[in-house]
This record gives sequence, C-alpha cells and structure tokens, in this order.
Amino acid sequence: MSSPQKTEKGIADMIPAPSGLGLDPADWSGLRAEAHRMLDDMLDHIATLPERPLWQPAPAEVRARFDAELPLQPTPLADVHADFRDAILPYGGGNGHPGFMGWVQGGGTAVGMLGDMLAAGLNSNLGGRDHVPLHVERQIGRWMRDVFGFPAAADGLFLTGASQANFVALIAARTRALGADARRKGLPARLRLTAYASREAHGCIPRAMDMAGLGSGQLRQIPTDDNRRIDLDALRAAIQVDRAEGHLPFLLIGSAGTVNTGAIDDLASLAEVAVEFGLHYHVDGALGALGVISPELKPLFAGIEAADSLAFDFHKWAQVPYDAGFLLVADGRWLRAAFSSDAAYLTRADEGLAGGDWWPCDLGPDLSRGFRALKTWFTIRTYGLDQLGSAMVGTCRLAKSLADRIDAEPALKLLAPVALNVVCFSYGDASAEAGVAPRHSLNGRIVERLHLEGEVAPSLTLVDGRPAIRAAIVNHRTRPDDIDRLVAGVLRIGSQEAGRATA
Ligand SMILES: *Cc1c(COP(=O)(O)O)cnc(C)c1O
Repeated sequence: MSSPQKTEKGIADMIPAPSGLGLDPADWSGLRAEAHRMLDDMLDHIATLPERPLWQPAPAEVRARFDAELPLQPTPLADVHADFRDAILPYGGGNGHPGFMGWVQGGGTAVGMLGDMLAAGLNSNLGGRDHVPLHVERQIGRWMRDVFGFPAAADGLFLTGASQANFVALIAARTRALGADARRKGLPARLRLTAYASREAHGCIPRAMDMAGLGSGQLRQIPTDDNRRIDLDALRAAIQVDRAEGHLPFLLIGSAGTVNTGAIDDLASLAEVAVEFGLHYHVDGALGALGVISPELKPLFAGIEAADSLAFDFHKWAQVPYDAGFLLVADGRWLRAAFSSDAAYLTRADEGLAGGDWWPCDLGPDLSRGFRALKTWFTIRTYGLDQLGSAMVGTCRLAKSLADRIDAEPALKLLAPVALNVVCFSYGDASAEAGVAPRHSLNGRIVERLHLEGEVAPSLTLVDGRPAIRAAIVNHRTRPDDIDRLVAGVLRIGSQEAGRATA
C-alpha cells in the first residue's frame, strides 16, 4: 500500500518495534504522537462534513491500492494512517453528511466515536463473566425497559442490528411456542408454524423465518390500509384460516415505523390480537421505536409497552456509530430458554471473575461480544434523552416541510402519507412508470444523478409498484437548506431528463 519513498523511513520509525515482548511498542512516544494526529484528523473530518462532497467515486488509482499483496513485513503506523487519510476517509458512504437521506442510516457523532475508541482500548469481551462493562450493558437494558414501559422481568442485549434482533426474537418465540425440547429435536414433522406481519414489514422478517428453518412462505404478509398500517380484519381472517387448515400460528410482528414509508402499525390493537390468539407479539422498531423518548412522538407508539419483544437500533435515529442494535424482551426467561447452554468451558463460579448466574451469551447466539454498550452509554449520557429526542422531532419537522413543498410543486407528487421522517415522492406521474425497472425509470435516473453530484442523497424505492424517490431523514445534521437542495435538484434534473426523453 505504501509508496517506495515512504518505506525508506527505516526501521526506527516502525511503531511495532520487535521488542520480543508481544505487539506493544518499545517506545510509546511515536505511537502517542500519531494517535493524536488521528484523533485530530477525525474530529476535523466530522466538523467539516457539510463542506465536503457527500459521496464521490473512488478513482482507479485509489481502488488499485486495495489490490496490494498481503503484508508479511511491518509498515510504519504513520504510513498506514496516511493510506487511510488518502484512500479511505474521502470515499466513505456519506451517511454522516447532512445531505444524506438515503435508506435509513444514522449520522453518528464525535461523542459516539470517542466511546467506541475507549471500548476498543479496553478490549472487553461482553459474552460473560463478572466485570463492570457488563453492568454498563445491563444498565442500558434497564433504561430501555423503563423507556418502553416493559415489565420488571424484562431483559435484553446488544446485537449487530435490528435484522439480527428480529431473528433472535423469532427464535425465542419459536422456543416459547414449542418448548425447549425443540432445540434438540428440531421442528416436529407436520407442524407448520405461521407468523404474521404486514406487507410493508422489513425484508429481514421473511429472512428470519427462512434462517430459522420455518420457511419464509410461512410468514403471512397481510395487506395494509390507506395509511400503510396492517389491516386488522385481514389479519384476524388470515389467522383463522391458518388455524382451520391445521397450521400453528405463533408469532405476530408489528412495525413501529416501516422501512419504506415510516408507517406505524396500530400497536395497541395488535397486542389485543396477540392475546386473543395466543401469539408471541414482537415489534420491529428499528426505524422508529426510539421515538418514544420524545414526549411529542411518544403517543404515536401507544401499545408498544404491551409487546413481548422489541427490536430497535441505536445506530439509526439515536445516532450511535455503527453497529448498535438491541433486543428487549418482556421476560428474560424466554431468551435464556432459547439460547443458554451448559458448555463446560463456560462454567460459572459463586464469586470472582467467573461469577454471575446469567451471562449475555445465555441470551443470544454470540459468545464473544464487543462493548457496543459503551458508545451508546456515552451518547445517552452526554446528550441526555431530551436532546436526542429533539433531534428526532427535528427530522420529522423536516419531513413534514418536504411533504408540504412537494404538495405545492405541480411537478412533484407525494406517494405515501408521512407518519414520521420518511417521504416518498416522484417527479411527474410515477404511475406512467409502473412496471419499469426502477433503475431505468425517470425517477431512478434523478436519484442516480443526485448521488453523482454529491450534495444530497435520497434513495430509490417502489411504492405500489411505482419507482419513487425516498428521503429518509434520520441524520441529526440535516437542515432546511438540505431539503431545499433536494427539491431544487429533483426539479432541475427531472426537467432535463424529461426533456431528453421527449426530444
Ligand atoms: C433498518 C431496518 C431493519 C434492519 O435493521 P439493521 O440494523 O439494518 O439490521 C429492520 N426493520 C426496519 C423497519 C428497518 O428500518
């Protein structure tokens, strides 16, 4: 990766001097100086995000650097850092930039970065044992229990993201339905478990059914109403049909903010349906659930406290750096019944480092686990819930203002109601493009050209089969002028592209 003149610096500049005592440097002062430069670089990077392009294609020369051979000999840390600065830092995915509205991604903060740095320095393994880092994760679990109004017996754990949290919840629900015996014996023959979610549920839900061996075809994707919330009558009817046909309904999944449009299911009514039919009630709150920390948004999530389990992401709306997903369950025993094992090498002691009855490795599939809790703890403590909640409300206000702009622009059309912070719209009448591959559609070209321009980045989706521009306003850095740039860019490129098509 480094150029020849860089390596001429010689062995004296190599930070990992071969001391024969492991990988720590013989002289810490060089490492310390380089570390301070790295920190300054990253703080500068975050402080000046709005001034740089949101995204830019990596030139061939930069890409070629990543074809370099596997190194056998040491490279001075300063050279490795220089490569990072030149070839990685300028070519990121752009989600920290205020104009980023693509997909649903958080913007991160310097505070979260620092928490993550400290966690890496500590290098704790949060699979288990008795040490304070575990108490930090458990404290966050208790905070979330209280934030969501879950019962005292609730428990939870950090996972990579909501995809994994939804999957782990599904496994817990399966074990709850079949008993722990099913962990050994597998699924009894002829038993067909069915789960229910709306058509708008995230793609990780059918995949969780698939990964669990239940089959994505056993997920009933229920139609939605005009507000894209699950249709309760259709849901009841589907459960009854399945029962009559000998299926075993076991799981109902509500969405607290669908990924495509931000719609929030009637969470309280879903709780009633779950009780009526004896189903485990899970809520996928990846996008929106943490909105409950804002008094203004909280009423939208009424009923979430009645869920048996809840998946959500700190790395989206709460701006914690990637990755930081969380699963909360109303009764910790459900996770332990589904995941604990009695491996000899994980034997517990009454006291000392191996102390504690339950470790996080008893609650989920991972044994070794990083200290995701620390960056989250720094974020929650440093900003406080009020400030994090205000940032969420700010993104909803921007979404509302974007929807108003769209309504006022004859060339633009709003394609779905705006419940939270996601706005789906089109340039022109998208129905003319139904059936056109999104990437070849007019709206697809608009999104692509906006990405190449590097000022604002919405994403592309389908709404009722029509290509749609989707602005998911999640980043705390997004400002009204970013919305102005989005609208102006879509109108400018849209009229050029439409003109080209008719020319
Ligand atoms: C983002 C998202 C997911 C997936 O979460 P990851 O953290 O990306 O794994 C699931 N459901 C919804 C509604 C989402 O918005």
